[in-house]
Amino acid sequence: MKEEASRVDNKVSTPLRRVPFLDLCAQYQSIRTEIESAIGEVVRTQRFVLGSEETRFEKAFAAHSRVPHAVGCSCGTSALFIALAALRVPRGAEVIVPTLTYPATAEAVILAGAVPVLVDVEADTGLIDIEATRKAITPRTWGILPVHLYGQMADMKAIAALAQPKALKVVEDAAQAHAAESGGLRPGTVGDAAIFSFFPGKNLGAYGDAGAIVTRDAALASWMRQYRNHGRLDKYRHDFVGFNFRLDAIQSAVLEAKLPHLGEWTEGRRRVVDQYRAGLRGCGVQCLVERPHNRHVYHLFVIRHPERDRLKKRLAERGIDCGLHYPIPLHLQPAFASADCPPGSLPRAESLCRELLSLPVYPEMTQEQVDYVINEVRAHA
Ligand SMILES: *Cc1c(COP(=O)(O)O)cnc(C)c1O
Repeated sequence: MKEEASRVDNKVSTPLRRVPFLDLCAQYQSIRTEIESAIGEVVRTQRFVLGSEETRFEKAFAAHSRVPHAVGCSCGTSALFIALAALRVPRGAEVIVPTLTYPATAEAVILAGAVPVLVDVEADTGLIDIEATRKAITPRTWGILPVHLYGQMADMKAIAALAQPKALKVVEDAAQAHAAESGGLRPGTVGDAAIFSFFPGKNLGAYGDAGAIVTRDAALASWMRQYRNHGRLDKYRHDFVGFNFRLDAIQSAVLEAKLPHLGEWTEGRRRVVDQYRAGLRGCGVQCLVERPHNRHVYHLFVIRHPERDRLKKRLAERGIDCGLHYPIPLHLQPAFASADCPPGSLPRAESLCRELLSLPVYPEMTQEQVDYVINEVRAHA
């Protein structure tokens, strides 16, 4: 009765709901017995670092990625660093990186002794801009580091066409793009290597930090496997200086248990996005696009709105948590600023960063939650 009345008098009639940005507890509940038995097995054996779980996960992840070799490591950031080290990036060499990405992409380049050259992105996808990349190539350019941002692959055909004639290396940052495809090809098929993050909130998430590198090159994979474990050949012999970037057994066991579900989870994300796209048509927000030849895996679903901060606040008041990926492009971060890229120099990324907003998207979202987000965005946009 009361509900009926308020629906009549009150314009904001939908009852308040909670839509968290991410709901890892819901996923855990759906696979609880598999996860607990996988973790239990590691605890029972007391073998916590690398080991048979890690080897099994590497095999399964390589097969899933449709790339011959996968090397597990401690996180996505170390995966980027290992890939650059394995490809022998020279000190001071230039690596082209999109300015719209998570800072780890450029950090790994700097830690590896090279120089990130930041370039602008496409306004409608946020992906590295091919023309900007072409213009950024100099005699000092060593490689290109495209980011498959939000779960959609950059145009790898076009990047290969720029890289091949000049023998540039290509490392793909696929931290957000597990099982994404471009023209039927997955990350690591075109580039020399692709890296993944299994941070808990990624599409395939561990129960802590974890990452992997995939490559078609067997020699590169074996060097990386040795490098992540102190350059160790066997228990007492060290061929070269490496470091500790190992993946632990509990993370491997969790990832191995989750991997068979990734396909259905990706479908779930895509179903939510289909509804968002249909439901948000014509309400003043612009959805970033999925290119026709791509299969976007929607780690994030990003919209643009000229009054982004107001919209974000209104949605938060209505119980909907949104994210910003990312509000500041790297060239405007003190950590990565350089005289070559002053404010205003990469205008598409700068205006996108002012307007972008990530809506909640995960396979466990209920129909009610999806409808509620659509209605609230429409009401407040
Ligand atoms: C998450 C992420 C990383 C870093 O991965 P970690 O596992 O957190 O170290 C790198 N690049 C991008 C684009 C990411 O989203």
